[in-house]
Amino acid sequence: MAAKQERTFIAIKPDGVQRGLVGDIIKRFEQKGFRLVAMKFPPVIASEDLLKQHYIDLKDRPFYNGLVKYMGSGPVVAMVWEGLNVVKTGRVMLGETNPADSKPGTIRGDFCIEVGRNIIHGSDSVESANKEISLWFKPEELVSYQSCAFSWIYE
Ligand code: UDP
Ligand code: MG
Repeated sequence: MAAKQERTFIAIKPDGVQRGLVGDIIKRFEQKGFRLVAMKFPPVIASEDLLKQHYIDLKDRPFYNGLVKYMGSGPVVAMVWEGLNVVKTGRVMLGETNPADSKPGTIRGDFCIEVGRNIIHGSDSVESANKEISLWFKPEELVSYQSCAFSWIYE
């Protein structure tokens, strides 16, 4: 059971929101069978502090300042999705970091062109998912419920 409750942090970046891709992106996670645990509504313009923390591992990379600026340039849709292997499968659904290397059928492969405007974030490990979820959400913002489709999605 615990494995089926793995969680990942997914955020639609400002370019994804501005380009009207919120519905298409949420639809892919919904139709896959993952469970929506939390979503910030209305979308939030993240503070510089939060974004610097979120991307702290990249602080020495040349694109770090530009990345923080881009991520704070408009509203983002922050979400938590749950399901078996959702971290790894979520990354597969996103595609590669660089949209140019992302296969058609993936979110980045289908909807964007450049690495600095790649429309979506997804946690890269269970450990970073837990860190990111606690950075963006309070515990009481995560909702527990049994999906009525659960036994139709899992054996
Ligand atoms: N990024 C960038 N230039 C690069 C590499 C990354 O602008 O050369 C941005 C891009 O938006 C990416 C984010 O930095 O999504 C975080 O980089 P990471 O390597 O963690 O990629 P991700 O986990 O998002 O695929
Ligand atoms: Mg990353």
